[in-house]
Amino acid sequence: MSIKENINSVLNEIEECRNRNQAAQTVKLLAVSKTKPYEDILEAYQAGQRMFGESYAQEACAKIDRFESEGLRDIIWYFIGPLQSNKTRSVAERFDWVLSCDREKIARRLNDQRPQGMNPLNTCIQINISDEEQKSGIKEENILSLASVIAGLPNLKLRGLMGIALNTDDTEILKEEFLNLKRIFDDIKKKYPSVDTLSMGMTADMEPAIACGSNLVRIGTRIFGARNYKDK
Ligand SMILES: *Cc1c(COP(=O)(O)O)cnc(C)c1O
Repeated sequence: MSIKENINSVLNEIEECRNRNQAAQTVKLLAVSKTKPYEDILEAYQAGQRMFGESYAQEACAKIDRFESEGLRDIIWYFIGPLQSNKTRSVAERFDWVLSCDREKIARRLNDQRPQGMNPLNTCIQINISDEEQKSGIKEENILSLASVIAGLPNLKLRGLMGIALNTDDTEILKEEFLNLKRIFDDIKKKYPSVDTLSMGMTADMEPAIACGSNLVRIGTRIFGARNYKDK
């Protein structure tokens, strides 16, 4: 199957999930293109896809440069990877969104490094919903304080939450984690009117994520095929 066919099949399944679950929310598709070459992203672009997610700042900036030099400037770039302090500048300068903000220091650096004249950087807080020690993301008890910091920073716009579920086939566990994140999202949304984005669901768990209220799924493998990290 081509990338275009894969995108169409994902879009169809999103609609089927929504119908099955009588989900009121529209669900946007973020195509996760990390480790994938420019040509693959271009194919997705030519199929109409405009939202792309990247995890490695340096690799992403090279692709963003390439699209800009080709005059293709209507892509919305999402940074979804772990954020270290030394990576914040390129994210602040080049991206439209960051989904993986999980601490105050990173939020303040992104704010300080966002160039004047650009729109505020759309920012989601990454929450550790599966409580695995090694995974990035903030703990539930610290969300409100980070949300209030981000909401107070002029060059960031608090847009919502992102979570990665446990890597499991157990739908009950997945639903429990997703519903927990949905509950926190509803709470934050009441306090901050700019909050409208709940990003849950990847290739393996898109369906339960949509059933539980996701409105932004992040799909890589199913669109672009398996990733080969050795090529990086
Ligand atoms: C890589 C990645 C994805 C895409 O995962 P697939 O299983 O390939 O769909 C989604 N979200 C995040 C944060 C990622 O790093």
